[in-house]
Amino acid sequence: MINYSVVVPVFNEDKLIVASYQRLKAVMERTCANFELIFVNDGSTDRTAELLEMIASGDPSVRIVDFSRNFGHQIAISAGIDYASGQAVIVIDADLQDPPELILKMIEKWQQGFEVVYGRRIARKGETLFKKWTAAAFYRTLRASTDIDIPLDTGDFRLIDARVCRELKRIPEKNRFVRGLVSWVGFNQTAIDYVRDERLAGETKYPLKKMLKLSIDGLTSFSYKPLKLATYGGMLLSGAGFIYMLIALFLKLFTTSTVPGWTSLIVIQLLFGGFMLFVLGMIGEYIGRIYDETKDRPLYIVRETRGFNAVDHLRSV
Ligand code: UDP
Ligand code: MG
Repeated sequence: MINYSVVVPVFNEDKLIVASYQRLKAVMERTCANFELIFVNDGSTDRTAELLEMIASGDPSVRIVDFSRNFGHQIAISAGIDYASGQAVIVIDADLQDPPELILKMIEKWQQGFEVVYGRRIARKGETLFKKWTAAAFYRTLRASTDIDIPLDTGDFRLIDARVCRELKRIPEKNRFVRGLVSWVGFNQTAIDYVRDERLAGETKYPLKKMLKLSIDGLTSFSYKPLKLATYGGMLLSGAGFIYMLIALFLKLFTTSTVPGWTSLIVIQLLFGGFMLFVLGMIGEYIGRIYDETKDRPLYIVRETRGFNAVDHLRSV
């Protein structure tokens, strides 16, 4: 019987994986309960796999899920949850930006009856202004565009009760935004505030491209508002266009001043062209996601696992 499963997604973290394991292990030992540490190797190309093997060979509480390629952070987390068998699952990044010691507080809250305990970042150390600002803007836009109560400034660092995990496993969505899904399933949720530390070593594995993908996944999974942009924007622009038409007609019919025209034409052309492309792109984002769902490919491919009992760990969908 396993009490706690710690899920750690790992992508090219050979600089810190051993230190990270040691600190996590030390914290989990303080719980005096049975636990497993599940490392999901998300197609690392450095020495991460080798180091994980080494760690696992010296510690029976360590389990490895080895992906066939890089599937992305959100999918790695989902796989970890699929494979976890604890009564509570804790998701934490490998880079220790989220202090593992907080897990003990999360467990306390869980024992009081909360089914999801998430960490809310009240400050972030060692991250660029750009990242802080875009992240803050993103969480607020997302919150404004959806009816789901997705907490602000909250990452994937959280404790999730097995009951909630069971529901998460039933969600077949391909382009996943896990923190939104956890809010979506409901249950008793509560927050713990913390200061996000600097990365232990190495660089962020979230370049701008992945950040953009994550934010568009978040928005499109939980809101139709971007699609309505075409309706409202179109109404606004055609209204403005109509007024401008009246002005132009008036000038033509009742005054002698001919409208030179070129500037206004080119401005309108650019404005409308840009707006239409943007809206088309937004529609494309949704269509792409519909396409992904209809193809219904498996969420991830596992090369091999290590340390699990011979239980069927297939997704329940
Ligand atoms: N990660 C992953 N797959 C990816 C990108 C990241 O499993 O494609 C892992 C990474 O190893 C780390 C966690 O996800 O454990 C968070 O990534 P990172 O710390 O680079 O993100 P940041 O904290 O900079 O937003
Ligand atoms: Mg990080």
